[in-house]
Amino acid sequence: MIDFELTEEQKWLQENVRKFSEKEFAPTIPEDDIKGHYDPETFPKLAKLGVTGVCFPEKYGGSGLDYISLGLVCEELEYVDTSLRTIMSVHVGLSGCGIYQWGTEEQKQRFLKPMAKGEKFGVFGLTEPDAGSDVSGMKSHAVKDGNHYILNGQKIWISGADYAHTFLVFAYTQKEKKHDGISAFILERGMPGLSTFSIHNKFGIRAGNVGGIVMQDIKIPAEHRLGEEGDGFKIAMSCLDNGRFTVAAGSTGLIRASLDASIKYAKSRKTFGKPIAEHQLVQEMIAKMAANYDAAKLLWLRAGWLKNKGLRNTRETSLAKWIGTTSAFDAANDAIEIHGAYGYSDEYPVGRFLRNAKGEVIYEGTPEIHKLLQAEYVLGIRQDKELRCKLPAYQTN
Ligand SMILES: Cc1cc2nc3c(=O)[nH]c(=O)nc-3n(C[C@H](O)[C@H](O)[C@H](O)COP(=O)(O)OP(=O)(O)OC[C@H]3O[C@@H](n4cnc5c(N)ncnc54)[C@H](O)[C@@H]3O)c2cc1C
Repeated sequence: MIDFELTEEQKWLQENVRKFSEKEFAPTIPEDDIKGHYDPETFPKLAKLGVTGVCFPEKYGGSGLDYISLGLVCEELEYVDTSLRTIMSVHVGLSGCGIYQWGTEEQKQRFLKPMAKGEKFGVFGLTEPDAGSDVSGMKSHAVKDGNHYILNGQKIWISGADYAHTFLVFAYTQKEKKHDGISAFILERGMPGLSTFSIHNKFGIRAGNVGGIVMQDIKIPAEHRLGEEGDGFKIAMSCLDNGRFTVAAGSTGLIRASLDASIKYAKSRKTFGKPIAEHQLVQEMIAKMAANYDAAKLLWLRAGWLKNKGLRNTRETSLAKWIGTTSAFDAANDAIEIHGAYGYSDEYPVGRFLRNAKGEVIYEGTPEIHKLLQAEYVLGIRQDKELRCKLPAYQTN
C-alpha cells in the first residue's frame, strides 16, 4: 500500500534542510551564480547538515534513513539552488549508491564511510569528450598489469570534479566486448597521474563546479575495481537509476521555487487596473506549474517507494527524471514570462532557474534518451531481466 503521509522523522528532516538552506546557502547563491563561483565551503556545510550519507546505514557512516528522505532533501536543496542538489546527485545518488550497491564490505568501509560522513566528496565520471548518451563511445581504458591496472583516458562534464576526493570512473578493460568490456574503478585524489580541471563560463548551475578528470598512466590496485571485470556498464546504469531519482526529486524543488516566485510577483504587479494574478492567461501558467509540481512529485515518490522495497525502478525513475526536469524548465520559462522584463534581469531569481533547469534536462539522460527508454518498455523491446534492484531495500532496524 502506498502511504503519502510523511513520517515525523521525514517532516523534521524536510524542515531542517529548508531552514538550514535558507540561512546558509540562500544569501550567497545569487552572487555566486552571477560570478560563476563555487564556494568550497558548500560540501562541508552539507556534511554539517548531515545529509551526505542520508540513505546509507549507520555502519557505513550514514543516517540510516530511507530513499523518500533522500528525495525530500534533494527537493529542499534545489528549492534554493540546483547546484546544491547536484552535489547530492553525484555524491549520494551516483557514486555513493554505486559503492553501496556493488562494493565489497571492505570497499564500503574504506570508500563509502568517509563519503557518507562528509569527510570526502565523491563524484561520478562516465561522460567523455566523445561519449555522452552513447557510453560505448568511451576511449578510457585500463590494462591489467599483475595486481594493478594502468588507466588512461579523460572524463568531461563531471560535476564537482575539481573539488572531489573520490571518483567512480568507468573504462574499457576489453574493448572488443563493447558494453560487456567496461569496468568500474574507484580513484582517489593524490593518485599519481590523476588531475582535474574546471569548466568556466557555463550557461547554468553556475554556483556549482563542473569539470574534467585527466587520467594518465594511473596505477590502480585491483581492490579499487568495483564489481567484477566487465560489470562496468551494468554498474553505471544502476548508478543512474539512483542519480536520476535525486534529479527528479530535486526538479520538484525548482518547480516549487518558480511557482512561489510567480505567485508573489503576480499578486503585486498590476496591469490594466488589477494584479496580473487576476488575468486568466497568467493564471493558466500558474495552474500548469501547480499541476506539474504534483505530477512530478507523484512520479518520484513512486520511484522512491519502489526503491524502499528493493524493487527494480529503472522505467519509473527515468519517467520521473524526464517529466520532472522538463516540467522544471517549463515552469522556469513561464515564471520569466510572468515577471515580464524583470524576469530577464538578475534582480529576480527566475532567469537563474531557467538556466539551471536546462542543465538538469541534459544530464543523467537527455529527454530523447528517456523517451526512447519509455517507448522501448511499452513496445516490449526492453524488459528488465531482474525484478529486484541491486539497491538494498530500506530496513527500519
Ligand atoms: C551541467 C552538467 C553536469 C554534468 N555532470 C555529469 C557528471 O557528473 N558525470 C557524468 O558522467 N556526466 C555529466 N554530465 C554529462 C551529461 O550526462 C551528458 O552531457 C549527457 O549524457 C548528454 O551527452 P552529450 O552531451 O555527449 O550529448 P550527445 O550524447 O552527443 O547528444 C547530443 C544530442 O543528440 C541527442 N541524441 C543522442 N543520441 C540519440 C538517439 N539515439 N536518439 C535521439 N537523439 C539522440 C541527445 O538527446 C542530444 O540532444 C553533465 C552535463 C552537464 C551539462
